[in-house]
Amino acid sequence: PLVLGIETSCDETGVGIVRGTTLLADAIASSVDEHARFGGVVPEVASRAHLEAMVPTIDRALKEAGVSAKDLDGIAVTAGPGLAGALLVGVSAAKAYAYALGKPLYGVNHLASHICVDQLEHGPLPEPTMALLVSGGHSSLLLSSDITSDVRPMGSTIDDAAGEAFDKIARVLNLGFPGGPVIDRYAREGDPRAIAFPRGLTGPRDAAYDFSFSGLKTAVARWIEAKRAVGEEVPVRDVAASFQEAVVDVLTRKAVRACKDEGVDHLMIGGGVAANSRLRALALERCEAAGIRLRVPRPKLCTDNGAMVAALGAEMVSRNRTASSWDLSADSSLPVTDTHVPGHGHD
Ligand code: ATP
Ligand code: FE
Ligand code: MG
Repeated sequence: PLVLGIETSCDETGVGIVRGTTLLADAIASSVDEHARFGGVVPEVASRAHLEAMVPTIDRALKEAGVSAKDLDGIAVTAGPGLAGALLVGVSAAKAYAYALGKPLYGVNHLASHICVDQLEHGPLPEPTMALLVSGGHSSLLLSSDITSDVRPMGSTIDDAAGEAFDKIARVLNLGFPGGPVIDRYAREGDPRAIAFPRGLTGPRDAAYDFSFSGLKTAVARWIEAKRAVGEEVPVRDVAASFQEAVVDVLTRKAVRACKDEGVDHLMIGGGVAANSRLRALALERCEAAGIRLRVPRPKLCTDNGAMVAALGAEMVSRNRTASSWDLSADSSLPVTDTHVPGHGHD
Protein backbone atom coordinates (compact mmCIF):
# COMPACT_ATOMS: atom_id res chain seq x y z
CA PRO A 1 0.00 0.00 0.00
CA LEU A 2 1.02 3.60 -0.74
CA VAL A 3 0.82 5.59 2.50
CA LEU A 4 1.71 9.12 3.55
CA GLY A 5 2.71 9.66 7.19
CA ILE A 6 2.77 12.87 9.23
CA GLU A 7 4.85 13.36 12.40
CA THR A 8 4.59 16.45 14.62
CA SER A 9 5.04 15.12 18.18
CA CYS A 10 7.97 17.37 19.07
CA ASP A 11 10.02 19.90 17.07
CA GLU A 12 10.30 18.00 13.77
CA THR A 13 7.65 18.41 11.04
CA GLY A 14 8.07 15.13 9.20
CA VAL A 15 6.21 13.85 6.15
CA GLY A 16 7.15 10.48 4.70
CA ILE A 17 5.75 8.35 1.91
CA VAL A 18 6.22 4.58 1.65
CA ARG A 19 4.99 1.78 -0.55
CA GLY A 20 4.78 -1.20 1.79
CA THR A 21 8.27 -1.44 3.28
CA THR A 22 9.88 0.71 0.58
CA LEU A 23 10.79 4.30 1.42
CA LEU A 24 9.80 6.78 -1.32
CA ALA A 25 10.16 10.13 0.46
CA ASP A 26 11.25 11.50 3.82
CA ALA A 27 10.74 15.28 4.01
CA ILE A 28 11.54 17.09 7.21
CA ALA A 29 11.45 20.64 8.55
CA SER A 30 12.89 21.27 12.00
CA SER A 31 12.33 24.21 14.32
CA VAL A 32 15.33 23.18 16.46
CA ASP A 33 17.20 26.45 15.71
CA GLU A 34 14.24 28.49 16.95
CA HIS A 35 14.39 26.66 20.30
CA ALA A 36 18.17 26.81 20.75
CA ARG A 37 18.13 30.30 22.24
CA PHE A 38 15.62 29.10 24.88
CA GLY A 39 17.77 26.05 25.74
CA GLY A 40 14.93 23.58 25.10
CA VAL A 41 11.84 22.97 23.00
CA VAL A 42 9.14 25.65 23.58
CA PRO A 43 5.74 24.04 22.86
CA GLU A 44 4.06 27.19 21.45
CA VAL A 45 7.00 27.86 19.14
CA ALA A 46 6.94 24.23 17.95
CA SER A 47 3.17 24.30 17.21
CA ARG A 48 3.47 27.52 15.22
CA ALA A 49 6.43 26.16 13.25
CA HIS A 50 4.50 22.95 12.43
CA LEU A 51 1.59 25.05 11.18
CA GLU A 52 3.86 27.01 8.84
CA ALA A 53 5.81 23.98 7.63
CA MET A 54 2.94 21.49 7.24
CA VAL A 55 1.63 22.13 3.72
CA PRO A 56 5.03 22.85 2.11
CA THR A 57 6.49 19.68 3.68
CA ILE A 58 3.57 17.55 2.41
CA ASP A 59 4.04 19.02 -1.09
CA ARG A 60 7.78 18.37 -0.93
CA ALA A 61 7.25 14.71 0.08
CA LEU A 62 4.74 14.09 -2.74
CA LYS A 63 7.16 15.64 -5.23
CA GLU A 64 10.12 13.66 -3.89
CA ALA A 65 8.14 10.40 -4.10
CA GLY A 66 6.83 11.27 -7.56
CA VAL A 67 3.31 10.21 -6.62
CA SER A 68 -0.06 11.91 -6.73
CA ALA A 69 -2.11 12.34 -3.53
CA LYS A 70 -5.11 10.70 -5.21
CA ASP A 71 -3.16 7.43 -5.52
CA LEU A 72 -2.57 7.11 -1.75
CA ASP A 73 -4.15 4.14 0.04
CA GLY A 74 -4.17 5.91 3.38
CA ILE A 75 -2.88 8.77 5.51
CA ALA A 76 -1.23 8.04 8.85
CA VAL A 77 -0.44 10.50 11.60
CA THR A 78 1.19 10.46 15.04
CA ALA A 79 -1.72 10.60 17.51
CA GLY A 80 0.61 10.54 20.57
CA PRO A 81 2.51 10.59 22.80
CA GLY A 82 4.10 14.02 22.47
CA LEU A 83 3.41 17.74 22.91
CA ALA A 84 -0.37 18.26 22.78
CA GLY A 85 -0.40 21.41 20.65
CA ALA A 86 2.24 20.06 18.28
CA LEU A 87 0.38 16.75 17.82
CA LEU A 88 -2.86 18.63 17.14
CA VAL A 89 -1.37 20.37 14.10
CA GLY A 90 -0.43 17.03 12.52
CA VAL A 91 -3.73 15.36 13.39
CA SER A 92 -5.74 18.28 11.98
CA ALA A 93 -3.74 18.30 8.76
CA ALA A 94 -4.04 14.52 8.34
CA LYS A 95 -7.81 14.68 8.87
CA ALA A 96 -8.21 17.51 6.37
CA TYR A 97 -6.20 15.74 3.66
CA ALA A 98 -7.78 12.33 4.29
CA TYR A 99 -11.30 13.76 4.26
CA ALA A 100 -10.74 15.90 1.18
CA LEU A 101 -9.12 13.03 -0.72
CA GLY A 102 -11.53 10.38 0.53
CA LYS A 103 -8.77 8.22 2.05
CA PRO A 104 -8.72 6.21 5.28
CA LEU A 105 -7.05 7.92 8.25
CA TYR A 106 -4.79 6.08 10.74
CA GLY A 107 -3.82 7.70 14.05
CA VAL A 108 -0.75 5.78 15.22
CA ASN A 109 1.57 5.57 18.22
CA HIS A 110 4.90 7.45 18.05
CA LEU A 111 6.87 4.73 19.87
CA ALA A 112 5.52 1.91 17.71
CA SER A 113 6.49 4.01 14.68
CA HIS A 114 10.08 4.30 15.98
CA ILE A 115 10.18 0.47 15.93
CA CYS A 116 8.33 -0.05 12.63
CA VAL A 117 10.69 2.27 10.72
CA ASP A 118 13.31 -0.47 10.70
CA GLN A 119 11.24 -2.25 8.05
CA LEU A 120 12.29 0.46 5.60
CA GLU A 121 15.94 -0.42 6.24
CA HIS A 122 16.01 -4.16 6.87
CA GLY A 123 12.71 -5.49 5.52
CA PRO A 124 9.74 -6.95 7.46
CA LEU A 125 10.17 -6.98 11.23
CA PRO A 126 10.51 -10.45 12.73
CA GLU A 127 7.79 -11.31 15.25
CA PRO A 128 8.57 -11.06 18.05
CA THR A 129 11.21 -8.33 18.12
CA MET A 130 12.62 -6.69 21.25
CA ALA A 131 13.06 -2.93 20.84
CA LEU A 132 15.35 -0.63 22.79
CA LEU A 133 14.09 2.94 22.24
CA VAL A 134 16.55 5.56 23.39
CA SER A 135 16.04 9.26 22.64
CA GLY A 136 15.93 12.65 24.29
CA GLY A 137 12.49 11.86 25.66
CA HIS A 138 12.38 8.07 26.02
CA SER A 139 14.40 5.10 27.25
CA SER A 140 12.30 1.96 27.01
CA LEU A 141 12.46 -1.73 26.32
CA LEU A 142 9.43 -2.86 24.34
CA LEU A 143 8.44 -6.30 23.14
CA SER A 144 6.66 -6.19 19.79
CA SER A 145 4.79 -9.34 18.78
CA ASP A 146 2.68 -7.52 16.17
CA ILE A 147 3.62 -3.90 15.54
CA THR A 148 0.00 -3.03 14.64
CA SER A 149 -1.61 -4.49 17.75
CA ASP A 150 0.71 -6.05 20.32
CA VAL A 151 3.52 -3.97 21.84
CA ARG A 152 4.27 -4.72 25.48
CA PRO A 153 6.36 -2.44 27.74
CA MET A 154 9.12 -4.42 29.49
CA GLY A 155 10.77 -1.51 31.28
CA SER A 156 11.66 2.17 31.01
CA THR A 157 13.64 4.89 32.73
CA ILE A 158 12.50 5.89 36.18
CA ASP A 159 14.11 9.34 35.84
CA ASP A 160 16.12 10.80 32.91
CA ALA A 161 16.08 9.51 29.34
CA ALA A 162 19.45 8.37 27.95
CA GLY A 163 19.69 11.25 25.47
CA GLU A 164 18.84 13.70 28.23
CA ALA A 165 21.81 12.36 30.24
CA PHE A 166 24.13 12.91 27.26
CA ASP A 167 22.81 16.45 26.87
CA LYS A 168 23.25 17.26 30.57
CA ILE A 169 26.79 15.90 30.81
CA ALA A 170 27.77 17.81 27.65
CA ARG A 171 26.50 20.97 29.32
CA VAL A 172 28.59 20.30 32.45
CA LEU A 173 31.63 19.79 30.21
CA ASN A 174 30.76 22.97 28.22
CA LEU A 175 30.50 21.02 24.96
CA GLY A 176 27.23 22.56 23.71
CA PHE A 177 23.86 21.14 22.57
CA PRO A 178 22.87 18.49 21.57
CA GLY A 179 25.36 16.59 23.66
CA GLY A 180 25.15 13.09 22.18
CA PRO A 181 27.16 13.57 18.99
CA VAL A 182 29.91 15.64 20.64
CA ILE A 183 30.36 13.24 23.59
CA ASP A 184 30.47 10.38 21.10
CA ARG A 185 33.30 12.18 19.27
CA TYR A 186 35.37 13.02 22.37
CA ALA A 187 34.85 9.52 23.77
CA ARG A 188 36.58 7.98 20.76
CA GLU A 189 39.86 9.47 21.97
CA GLY A 190 39.27 8.67 25.65
CA ASP A 191 39.64 5.62 27.91
CA PRO A 192 36.26 4.09 28.83
CA ARG A 193 37.89 2.42 31.87
CA ALA A 194 39.56 5.60 33.17
CA ILE A 195 36.81 6.35 35.73
CA ALA A 196 34.42 3.81 37.23
CA PHE A 197 31.06 5.62 37.10
CA PRO A 198 27.98 3.89 38.60
CA ARG A 199 25.72 1.61 36.58
CA GLY A 200 22.16 2.54 37.60
CA LEU A 201 19.63 -0.12 38.67
CA THR A 202 21.93 -3.08 38.18
CA GLY A 203 21.72 -4.49 41.71
CA PRO A 204 20.16 -7.90 42.35
CA ARG A 205 17.04 -6.33 43.85
CA ASP A 206 16.58 -3.73 41.13
CA ALA A 207 13.94 -3.97 38.41
CA ALA A 208 15.52 -6.07 35.67
CA TYR A 209 14.48 -3.92 32.71
CA ASP A 210 14.13 -0.41 34.14
CA PHE A 211 16.78 2.28 33.69
CA SER A 212 18.04 5.15 35.84
CA PHE A 213 20.51 7.79 34.66
CA SER A 214 20.12 10.59 37.19
CA GLY A 215 22.52 9.00 39.73
CA LEU A 216 25.14 8.63 37.01
CA LYS A 217 24.63 12.25 35.97
CA THR A 218 25.18 13.43 39.55
CA ALA A 219 28.25 11.21 39.99
CA VAL A 220 29.86 12.58 36.81
CA ALA A 221 29.04 16.20 37.74
CA ARG A 222 30.53 15.71 41.25
CA TRP A 223 33.65 14.09 39.84
CA ILE A 224 34.18 17.06 37.51
CA GLU A 225 33.52 19.59 40.28
CA ALA A 226 36.06 17.88 42.55
CA LYS A 227 38.73 18.18 39.86
CA ARG A 228 37.91 21.82 39.22
CA ALA A 229 37.87 22.61 42.96
CA VAL A 230 41.54 21.62 43.34
CA GLY A 231 42.47 23.38 40.11
CA GLU A 232 43.16 20.20 38.15
CA GLU A 233 42.40 20.00 34.47
CA VAL A 234 39.33 17.88 33.61
CA PRO A 235 40.28 15.02 31.24
CA VAL A 236 37.30 15.64 28.96
CA ARG A 237 37.94 12.67 26.66
CA ASP A 238 38.25 10.17 29.52
CA VAL A 239 35.18 11.57 31.29
CA ALA A 240 33.17 11.40 28.04
CA ALA A 241 34.33 7.84 27.33
CA SER A 242 33.73 6.60 30.90
CA PHE A 243 30.30 8.25 31.12
CA GLN A 244 29.26 6.91 27.72
CA GLU A 245 30.45 3.43 28.67
CA ALA A 246 28.31 3.49 31.84
CA VAL A 247 25.21 4.38 29.79
CA VAL A 248 25.66 1.91 26.94
CA ASP A 249 26.83 -0.89 29.24
CA VAL A 250 23.50 -0.81 31.11
CA LEU A 251 21.38 -0.31 27.97
CA THR A 252 22.90 -3.25 26.12
CA ARG A 253 23.13 -5.52 29.16
CA LYS A 254 19.42 -5.11 29.96
CA ALA A 255 18.31 -5.34 26.32
CA VAL A 256 20.18 -8.62 25.83
CA ARG A 257 18.88 -9.97 29.12
CA ALA A 258 15.30 -9.15 28.13
CA CYS A 259 15.78 -10.98 24.81
CA LYS A 260 17.18 -14.04 26.57
CA ASP A 261 14.48 -14.08 29.28
CA GLU A 262 11.70 -13.81 26.70
CA GLY A 263 13.32 -16.15 24.18
CA VAL A 264 13.42 -13.39 21.54
CA ASP A 265 16.26 -13.55 19.05
CA HIS A 266 15.90 -10.17 17.32
CA LEU A 267 16.79 -6.82 18.91
CA MET A 268 16.18 -3.46 17.25
CA ILE A 269 17.54 -0.18 18.58
CA GLY A 270 15.85 3.11 17.70
CA GLY A 271 15.66 6.77 18.78
CA GLY A 272 18.34 9.47 18.46
CA VAL A 273 20.79 7.77 20.86
CA ALA A 274 20.89 4.76 18.50
CA ALA A 275 23.27 6.93 16.46
CA ASN A 276 25.88 6.46 19.21
CA SER A 277 28.87 4.59 17.83
CA ARG A 278 29.79 2.85 21.09
CA LEU A 279 26.19 1.75 21.68
CA ARG A 280 26.13 0.20 18.20
CA ALA A 281 29.47 -1.55 18.68
CA LEU A 282 28.78 -2.93 22.16
CA ALA A 283 25.25 -4.01 21.20
CA LEU A 284 26.64 -5.89 18.21
CA GLU A 285 29.33 -7.55 20.32
CA ARG A 286 26.87 -8.67 23.01
CA CYS A 287 24.18 -9.73 20.55
CA GLU A 288 26.66 -11.85 18.61
CA ALA A 289 27.81 -13.51 21.83
CA ALA A 290 24.18 -14.28 22.75
CA GLY A 291 23.06 -15.41 19.29
CA ILE A 292 20.72 -12.42 18.85
CA ARG A 293 20.28 -10.65 15.49
CA LEU A 294 20.72 -6.88 15.82
CA ARG A 295 18.83 -4.35 13.67
CA VAL A 296 19.65 -0.64 13.88
CA PRO A 297 18.29 1.72 11.21
CA ARG A 298 20.49 4.47 9.76
CA PRO A 299 20.61 7.58 12.02
CA LYS A 300 18.20 9.67 9.89
CA LEU A 301 15.49 7.05 10.43
CA CYS A 302 16.26 6.80 14.18
CA THR A 303 15.38 10.42 15.00
CA ASP A 304 11.82 11.70 14.58
CA ASN A 305 10.62 11.62 10.96
CA GLY A 306 7.48 11.11 8.86
CA ALA A 307 8.65 7.94 7.13
CA MET A 308 8.31 5.96 10.37
CA VAL A 309 4.66 7.01 10.66
CA ALA A 310 4.03 6.06 7.03
CA ALA A 311 5.73 2.69 7.64
CA LEU A 312 3.38 1.89 10.52
CA GLY A 313 0.39 3.23 8.54
CA ALA A 314 1.25 0.90 5.64
CA GLU A 315 1.32 -2.00 8.08
CA MET A 316 -2.15 -0.99 9.37
CA VAL A 317 -3.46 -1.04 5.79
CA SER A 318 -1.76 -4.38 4.99
CA ARG A 319 -3.21 -6.01 8.09
CA ASN A 320 -6.67 -4.56 7.56
CA ARG A 321 -6.70 -2.64 10.82
CA THR A 322 -9.75 -0.45 11.40
CA ALA A 323 -9.14 3.14 10.30
CA SER A 324 -9.52 5.98 12.81
CA SER A 325 -12.76 7.94 12.92
CA TRP A 326 -13.05 11.59 11.92
CA ASP A 327 -13.20 12.52 15.61
CA LEU A 328 -9.63 11.28 16.11
CA SER A 329 -7.86 13.52 18.60
CA ALA A 330 -4.28 13.91 19.76
CA ASP A 331 -3.39 12.18 23.04
CA SER A 332 -0.22 13.59 24.61
CA SER A 333 0.11 10.56 26.89
CA LEU A 334 -1.10 7.79 24.55
CA PRO A 335 0.03 4.48 26.16
CA VAL A 336 2.50 2.42 24.15
CA THR A 337 0.06 -0.50 24.18
CA ASP A 338 -2.29 1.61 22.00
CA THR A 339 -0.38 1.02 18.77
CA HIS A 340 -3.10 2.90 16.91
CA VAL A 341 -6.33 4.69 17.66
CA PRO A 342 -9.04 2.75 15.82
CA GLY A 343 -12.44 4.26 15.28
CA HIS A 344 -15.70 2.78 14.06
CA GLY A 345 -14.37 3.13 10.51
CA HIS A 346 -15.63 5.64 7.98
CA ASP A 347 -15.68 4.04 4.56
P1 ATP B 1 11.71 12.02 21.29
O1 ATP B 1 11.94 11.21 22.48
O2 ATP B 1 10.34 12.60 21.22
O3 ATP B 1 12.06 11.32 20.01
P2 ATP B 1 13.96 13.86 20.88
O4 ATP B 1 13.60 14.74 19.74
O5 ATP B 1 14.75 14.48 21.96
O6 ATP B 1 12.66 13.25 21.55
P3 ATP B 1 15.59 12.30 19.08
O7 ATP B 1 15.53 13.44 18.11
O8 ATP B 1 15.21 10.95 18.63
O9 ATP B 1 14.77 12.59 20.37
O10 ATP B 1 17.05 12.20 19.69
C1 ATP B 1 17.77 13.31 20.19
C2 ATP B 1 18.66 12.82 21.32
O11 ATP B 1 19.63 11.89 20.81
C3 ATP B 1 19.44 13.93 21.98
O12 ATP B 1 19.34 13.80 23.36
C4 ATP B 1 20.88 13.71 21.49
O13 ATP B 1 21.86 14.13 22.41
C5 ATP B 1 20.90 12.19 21.32
N1 ATP B 1 21.95 11.76 20.39
C6 ATP B 1 22.09 12.08 19.08
N2 ATP B 1 23.22 11.55 18.56
C7 ATP B 1 23.82 10.87 19.58
C8 ATP B 1 25.01 10.10 19.72
N3 ATP B 1 25.87 9.93 18.71
N4 ATP B 1 25.28 9.56 20.92
C9 ATP B 1 24.44 9.72 21.96
N5 ATP B 1 23.31 10.43 21.91
C10 ATP B 1 23.00 11.00 20.74
FE1 FE C 1 10.72 10.26 18.91
MG1 MG D 1 14.31 15.55 17.93
